[in-house]
Amino acid sequence: MKQYLVIGSGLIGRLLSWRLIQAGHAVDILSSDDKQGTDSAGYVAAAMIAPVTEAVTAEAKVRDIGMQSLKLWPQWLKELPEQIFYQNHGTLVVAHAGDKAELDRYQRRANHVLDKGAFEQLDQQQLTERESELAENFDQAMLFEHEACLDNRQLFQSLGNVLSDSCDWQQCEPVEHLTEQSIAQLTLENFDKSSDGYDAVIDCRGNGARPDLADLRSVRGEVIRVHAPEVSFNHCIRLMHPRYPLYLAPRPNNEYVLGATVVESDDRSPVSVRSGLELMSALYSLHKGFAEARILEMSSHCRPGLSNNMPTIKRSSWGFHLNGFYRHGYLFGPAIITDFLNILNDQTEQVSFGEYYDI
Ligand SMILES: Cc1cc2nc3c(=O)[nH]c(=O)nc-3n(C[C@H](O)[C@H](O)[C@H](O)COP(=O)(O)OP(=O)(O)OC[C@H]3O[C@@H](n4cnc5c(N)ncnc54)[C@H](O)[C@@H]3O)c2cc1C
Repeated sequence: MKQYLVIGSGLIGRLLSWRLIQAGHAVDILSSDDKQGTDSAGYVAAAMIAPVTEAVTAEAKVRDIGMQSLKLWPQWLKELPEQIFYQNHGTLVVAHAGDKAELDRYQRRANHVLDKGAFEQLDQQQLTERESELAENFDQAMLFEHEACLDNRQLFQSLGNVLSDSCDWQQCEPVEHLTEQSIAQLTLENFDKSSDGYDAVIDCRGNGARPDLADLRSVRGEVIRVHAPEVSFNHCIRLMHPRYPLYLAPRPNNEYVLGATVVESDDRSPVSVRSGLELMSALYSLHKGFAEARILEMSSHCRPGLSNNMPTIKRSSWGFHLNGFYRHGYLFGPAIITDFLNILNDQTEQVSFGEYYDI
């Protein structure tokens, strides 16, 4: 059994701590966040696992890493004590008449970069058979079968319960810089332990690691959560939009999350009127039943992104940074964490996915 210190308890810190516990190790967690995870990007996210629709406009690695995570998610979720909402009926991509050119461009690119059969073109009849309420407003769609979304709040809650029972988990002031000295002081203050006892320290602070990672930037995203009893969609929906990749991600009991805007900024202030209007009109344009939906929440957070928008594992003198998950923490998390566990087990200096190097 090894002993690890994980700093940061958002999406990656939680998942990693849990996998370490599942592998029989001991984990201490230190985070400025509360146990619900309300200060993390992962708590706000739409939690789409969309390897193929994302790969249309990104590098091929996005698809490879994402497909690996898509394979792992159902296996991992089965190991949690509570059932987590996980919907894998695929994504329907649609556009309104005014954005038809966007859809045509997207489709041309999909034909160019994806394998044959990666998506199916649906006419109105076929769309009616797959998602009848969507066919009321759209006469065609692209169907990407191998995509999913999950209920991130349920996931955070369940992981939080497991970790509270099995880890020493302390809430602290934001950790500014990680050095051997600062870690020694933090572990003494928070766990009454010497840092020498840890086999590795792993930094999962997301945006909070910017003081230590010069090339890390924050990218603001805004989402809206609604309860819409008059709408029942069974698929994730990507709506073509001139500025943002907008996804509608279903949640249990007719709840939906629509997001997200993409703004190069570390601004964590509330949702702007302009973004709120855009998100609400996108919702209403998908289904008239959203008119009577109740707004549960409008929230914003920032994604932690590196210059290539890809995740990274960086080894430093005191441990590791796991960061750069950008728009894809749910899409990349399981694959990258599995790679990282192999590194910790001394099984490899190579990773299958992401990037791994010393700083
Ligand atoms: C609006 C929005 C929509 C998104 N939608 C999707 C999606 O559909 N699919 C997808 O795959 N990804 C999505 N993402 C991206 C995903 O949420 C992130 O990639 C992921 O959360 C990154 O995980 P992380 O653990 O690195 O950071 P976080 O989840 O932000 O966690 C970081 C944790 O560290 C803590 N912390 C921060 N600073 C400090 C400090 N100084 N000291 C101690 N603790 C600290 C924080 O409080 C937090 O708990 C979305 C993100 C946003 C903002």
